Amino acid sequence: MKYFSTRDNERALTSLADAAFMGLAADGGLFLPERVPQVDMKRVEVLAAKSYADMALYLAQTLFDDVAAEDLERVVRSAYDFPIELRSLDAQTHTLELFHGPTHAFKDFGARFMGQMTGLLNKEGELVILTATSGDTGSAVAHGFYGVEGVRVVILYPDGKVSPLQEAQMTTLGGNIIPLKVRGTFDDCQRMVKSMFRDAALREKVRITSANSINLLRWLPQSFYYFYGYSEWKRRTGRDNPTVVVPSGNYGNLTAGMFARRMGLPIKDFVAASNANDVVPEFLQSEEYRPRASVQTVANAMDVGDPSNFERMMSLVGGDVQALKAELRGFSCSDQQIEQAIAEIYKKYGYLSDPHSAVGYLAAKHYDVDGFYLSTAHAAKFGEVTLRAAGAEPELPQSLAEAVGKPRVATPIEAEEADLKEFLLKM
Ligand SMILES: *Cc1c(COP(=O)(O)O)cnc(C)c1O
Repeated sequence: MKYFSTRDNERALTSLADAAFMGLAADGGLFLPERVPQVDMKRVEVLAAKSYADMALYLAQTLFDDVAAEDLERVVRSAYDFPIELRSLDAQTHTLELFHGPTHAFKDFGARFMGQMTGLLNKEGELVILTATSGDTGSAVAHGFYGVEGVRVVILYPDGKVSPLQEAQMTTLGGNIIPLKVRGTFDDCQRMVKSMFRDAALREKVRITSANSINLLRWLPQSFYYFYGYSEWKRRTGRDNPTVVVPSGNYGNLTAGMFARRMGLPIKDFVAASNANDVVPEFLQSEEYRPRASVQTVANAMDVGDPSNFERMMSLVGGDVQALKAELRGFSCSDQQIEQAIAEIYKKYGYLSDPHSAVGYLAAKHYDVDGFYLSTAHAAKFGEVTLRAAGAEPELPQSLAEAVGKPRVATPIEAEEADLKEFLLKM
């Protein structure tokens, strides 16, 4: 399987390793597979009943057909060693819980696969993953690459500006994970990282790459859990052709679902569930795309005003807005509605929901969907919101509680390009 850029009408092809290490295509586009493999749904359902890893391995084999079977098996089994669960709140309300991984958010599904796969594809000596974070991405990347041989991860985060939980997740691993706490803001971190990628002299001495969320090694494996959710939902309800509701920000998650549907997964349609950052729902109504600055909400991982995967989404429908509208409905809501939903879910079901998943719940209720919504984060990561909204705080999962208790180790650094360059050269 080879890959082409969404911006290339000629569809020139790039190998998996090149596409993975480049992240973005040279023309600024996003990579997509040259063809969509069709899967055997009978087989998917049998394997899903066995285990997530077994099902994911079959799907990975159809997509990454030029990777040796035993290598792919090692990648999949080490990436997916954590649970996934379809939870039924009542006969009509089902949610696929994607937050049982090491950092308790769905990004683990992409980051873990990418980490293991990068270790496998990297044949040219030590590789440094350089990344700036305002909190969550850094911890998912750190846990995704933790222990991967031949790879070191350097994470820059703004000192004092990430939550104690986020900091603990990035700074208590040790090993090949190297956190730098920057005396500055997230923008400083990002500026420093970008300048390293532009520094040809540095790049001759140190092999650096990014673990950006648009990287196809993070994006493609996100299509797998749609197959799992479908199989579980069908087995449990006896129904077929579900609608799937996806809490969305950068739209990597939703476009991965659209890709799964093209692989033969019988999903009826999707709901793009957003907070007040509603560019995509607005586009579905007005057919006009108006990217803008994001506004801050309680579901902050979805605060995106110009989603990078919009381009992938349009490419999947061949640029046809009507085709997109046939496949996708839009929904958006306010912070007040999100907090009311958290309270309602708790009152009705005794179940605590994080603000992002609550957006999914609201959209599912709004359209009275026959299907399921995705839950993207564990409520314990947003304890202050659930306490305010529902008067209850979830217990920290054991791994989070352990991380919080461990000593935090991070190297302090000034917000200067030269200091980061020196650090990378001496490392
Ligand atoms: C990243 C994230 C989202 C948004 O996912 P996209 O793929 O960017 O649309 C939703 N919820 C949580 C908890 C996230 O971390």
